[in-house]
Amino acid sequence: MTTAPQASFFAGIARRGLLFIMSSPSGAGKTTLSRKLLAADKLISMSVSVTTRKPRPGEVDGKDYYFISNDAFETMVADGDLLEWANVFGNLYGTPRKPVETALAAGRDVLFDIDWQGTQQLAQAMKDDLVRLFILPPAPDVLRERLIKRAQDSSAVIAKRMAEAAHEISHWPEYDYVVVNDDLEKAHQQVFAILTAERLKRRRQLGLAEFVRNLTKEL
Ligand code: 5GP
Repeated sequence: MTTAPQASFFAGIARRGLLFIMSSPSGAGKTTLSRKLLAADKLISMSVSVTTRKPRPGEVDGKDYYFISNDAFETMVADGDLLEWANVFGNLYGTPRKPVETALAAGRDVLFDIDWQGTQQLAQAMKDDLVRLFILPPAPDVLRERLIKRAQDSSAVIAKRMAEAAHEISHWPEYDYVVVNDDLEKAHQQVFAILTAERLKRRRQLGLAEFVRNLTKEL
């Protein structure tokens, strides 16, 4: 006779948090995909970067970015407070170190919206904990339309970002996964599947050996 499984036995297996990086040219839908992932999964939180760029309309300090001065940025660099930093389109962007280390230590995952330069730096410092995902637009016109529709940047900035997009895209081979965002829901499902699979990697499931020991003890 089989007995019903005990609900209390499986309380989750302790695991290491991972760093989930999403890079793409501006306008590939990365921000929307990040928001959808954060809404769908409570174990991952966003790394909020510091930047010297001026806020766009609607952007909230402390949520979208911490908007800081050049001097404050340089102090953070000098004090070692940034995990990585880069000059992107003439502005400085960086990842504050402390919140990331706190989240990882608690077994939580961290989502990063950073460029290829920051990704390379994190790959050097924390390779084993990194998952690198590149988002591509399905066609050049789609990228242009998305940038114009967003209309938060001047047309000069849009033209510059189109030119920069090709350079950003050239770094796709440095990523573990590539998702083409032609359909938002499909792209979201793919991103979510990647996160799920990466969490299940054996080496990330720190509590697995103990779990299996307990499991087999009474077999
Ligand atoms: P935006 O100005 O459109 O918000 O961002 C411009 C670019 O800077 C995007 O490609 C974004 O991924 C990148 N970025 C944002 N925060 C950081 C960061 O902390 N570090 C690095 N390396 N890039 C960042």
